[in-house]
Amino acid sequence: MKTLTTISELRAEIAQHRLQGQSIGLVPTMGYLHSGHASLIERAAAECDLVITTVFVNPLQFAATEDLSSYPRDAPGDSRTAAAAGADLLFLPGLQEMYPLGREGVLTSVSVNELSAVMEGESRPTHFAGMCTVVAKLFNIAGPCTAYFGKKDFQQLAIVQAMVRDLSFDVELVGCEICREPDGLAMSSRNVYLSTEQRAAAPVLAQALVAAARSLSRGETSVDRLRATMMDVISTQAIGQVEYLEVVDPITLRPLTQADARSRFFGAVRFGSVRLIDNLDLSELDLDSNAAISQ
Ligand code: AMP
Repeated sequence: MKTLTTISELRAEIAQHRLQGQSIGLVPTMGYLHSGHASLIERAAAECDLVITTVFVNPLQFAATEDLSSYPRDAPGDSRTAAAAGADLLFLPGLQEMYPLGREGVLTSVSVNELSAVMEGESRPTHFAGMCTVVAKLFNIAGPCTAYFGKKDFQQLAIVQAMVRDLSFDVELVGCEICREPDGLAMSSRNVYLSTEQRAAAPVLAQALVAAARSLSRGETSVDRLRATMMDVISTQAIGQVEYLEVVDPITLRPLTQADARSRFFGAVRFGSVRLIDNLDLSELDLDSNAAISQ
């Protein structure tokens, strides 16, 4: 695996491979790679000739009050994980390379309306525009490719899908299933900041979503009652502070009053200063690989 730090090097490398008729797989990340990220890289490696993993902690998607400076970083570990998962190129640009005039010097913003206003957007109003801006930039650098995103950030995936459609990026998007710890907790770079007590409590978020999905599968369609089920489960762990628990349409992300088989369950819960998100739909209850949440 080659590590590249400049946009021009990356473009030149991709151009060479494209000339040979190779397909390009892109896996954008913020690093501190774990098995969830690795699953995206492995899928890209199975489906594409040249796999590029990008690691960039994008300041545009963090608000002033958020955890940009403390966001976990581990370039040597990322290099090992990306290589082991099958990446051919690791793109590790510095801030200066991505934003030569600094964060304040970025005058362009790509925003996707409506989908960005709900759930994560309510407490993080500038987050998705920052994310879309850097993803648009990475798509422009990579050119035509297949890009792999995790359903762990389902709202992000829906927003990137809308951006690709609306702006005609020559990018095929692949949504990958959520990788979970054996106790059901969705893997996340932020899990490292959970204390022992918080880590023990954290699976309650996945358990709440599963309980509601299971209730729906048994015929309960009232979102008020499904939300009450989720609240009941979360309240078994007093240190979990609910930010939102929603049942939404998977395409429009609009909140529902009556759920159906396509509905998706979302939650954000704070454990101290660590904010965790998760989501699932009925299909995840059947995934063999998620035995922990299917019990
Ligand atoms: P991040 O580094 O957190 O920005 O994530 C980079 C990509 O990895 C995004 O597409 C995430 O949705 C995906 N990802 C993160 N955690 C997981 C997970 N547990 N399972 C599947 N994909 C994940």
